[in-house]
Amino acid sequence: MIELTDVTKTYPGGVRALDGVTLTIGAGELVAVVGPSGSGKSTLLHMLGTLDRPTSGGVVVDGYDVSRLSDRQLSALRATRIGFVFQQFHLAAGVPALDNVADGLLYAGVGLAGRRRRAQAALERVGLGHRLGHEPHELSGGERQRVAIARAVVGGPALLLADEPTGNLDSASGQGVMAVLRELHAGGTTVVVITHDAEVAAGLDRQVRVRDGRIESDDARVVTSS
Ligand code: ADP
Ligand code: MG
Repeated sequence: MIELTDVTKTYPGGVRALDGVTLTIGAGELVAVVGPSGSGKSTLLHMLGTLDRPTSGGVVVDGYDVSRLSDRQLSALRATRIGFVFQQFHLAAGVPALDNVADGLLYAGVGLAGRRRRAQAALERVGLGHRLGHEPHELSGGERQRVAIARAVVGGPALLLADEPTGNLDSASGQGVMAVLRELHAGGTTVVVITHDAEVAAGLDRQVRVRDGRIESDDARVVTSS
């Protein structure tokens, strides 16, 4: 699904956020990327999600060599194949949950009724079928993040990338969000979760540890799926 080969990323000003990262993530994996603040996790997510290009090294996502695609082709790849979830939920204020999710299909060529129908199904999948008309300020943090997840997956992406999805949540809400991500994984989506929370990471199949822009360790735990 994703192949990074000796990827470096140097930001203007000279910070080398990634320093020779080689990482393969297969279709259907459930991966935690762990590391302290400033270690390069978000930069790594930007590479995995084609939100940014590396300074050097190779990035192949879903079979596409990122260096060979135009910005427009990369946007199309992201819009159709990759879902994103961030620590700040990034929901539109004053917009009901149903339409926040339906807007995730704006570029999918689906009419409004179809978008809303699929949005409702996505909200039901994350356990929010009873909150369709609620606006973000009427939802708890955990519910807001589940709306954000529904929006990220409403188009049926093969890959879901989450950057500190539980970072703003209490532990019970965080566990609810992780349960939703595990269910999506069980349904066939490749899921990568960035976290500095060791407990969150421990619940996932594979743990990639990042420090100072390098991969410090990469453990696949043997898990028996039920
Ligand atoms: P993490 O997500 O692990 O906290 P980041 O990937 O956000 O780490 O950042 C890695 C390093 O790159 C940090 O030193 C950070 O200050 C720097 N950095 C991140 N984004 C930028 C940017 N847009 N411009 C300059 N430096 C950046
Ligand atoms: Mg970060």
